This record gives sequence, C-alpha cells and structure tokens, in this order.
Amino acid sequence: MEERPATDAQPAIEPGGADAAARGGGETEEQRWLDERFLGVAIEQARIGRAEGGVPIGAALVADGRVLGAGHNRRVQLGSPIRHGETDALEVAGRLPAAVYQRSTMYTTLSPCDMCTGAVLLYGIPRVVIGENETFMGAEDLLRSRGVEVVNLRSEECIRLMRDFTAEHPELWNEDIGV
Ligand SMILES: [Zn+2]
Repeated sequence: MEERPATDAQPAIEPGGADAAARGGGETEEQRWLDERFLGVAIEQARIGRAEGGVPIGAALVADGRVLGAGHNRRVQLGSPIRHGETDALEVAGRLPAAVYQRSTMYTTLSPCDMCTGAVLLYGIPRVVIGENETFMGAEDLLRSRGVEVVNLRSEECIRLMRDFTAEHPELWNEDIGV
C-alpha cells in the first residue's frame, strides 16, 4: 500500500482518479485512502482463497474504522453453496446489533451477486465498495435502487485475480454464479 501524500493540494492525475465523477464525486481523498486500504484486506482474503484452490473473491465488513470480519469464497473448500466472500465475512464477523450493520461498509473484490446483495440489503449495510465489475456484473442496480452507495475502485489486481482464475477453472466459476 502506498503512503498517502500529506498534501491536500490538487488531486493528482492517477489511475482511477478520473473516476471520481463516475463514482458520484462525493468521495474525499481521505475516504479513497481508507477504501483502498480496506479493499486491500479483501484482496488478501481473495489470495488466501486462491491458494486454497478456491474462487479468489474476498470481502471485509468494516465499521468505525475497524475490520469486524474478513472472509473469502469457500464454496469449493467447504462444499458450501452459501459461503461467498461477502457472506463469509458476515459469518466471521458473527452476530452483530442492527445498528452496527447500519454504519458498516462491505468491501468486496468483486461486484456482489444476488445472494450477497440480498444479505447487504437484509442487514441494512449502507455502503458497498467493490474491487471491480468487469469480470462479473452483480446486482449493483438493485443496491443503488435501495439507497445503498456503491463505489467501484476499478482494481487491476482484482481483475487479474478473476481473469486468471476463470481462464484456469471456467467450470468452478460457472458453478459459483449458477451457470
Ligand atoms: Zn455472492
């Protein structure tokens, strides 16, 4: 992770920087820095999943600047139909009061599927930060239609993890998304 420049001067032209408007434009430099940092926790989880022979998708549930739970897709590892990155992170975080979910952000390396979108909506998580949606477009429109803020950090690393995996194991990925 790169150190954030100490200056608050003009935003530098950098990869992803021009996406601020596309993301809604409301994201401050500080928020962006935090989002990159917590997405990094999700990416680390995706790498662990990959090393285990699983689908390389990771997630982290964060509130008040703390990671409450981080997890990764363990469908292959556990023979589980429901342990996606996001649901695994929720499970690892354990049972929490409604108020905690309602001030949380779900970080996930990939645009969330219908099931994980449902979990986000059920618990009233107001913000979802995704690594990418180029290799798979989830239910982002549904999230937005229900008032959830969705931020796409367009991470090259997340794209690479999925591209490599789906090229190597197309059958495992198709199974993951019900194809
Ligand atoms: Zn999912």
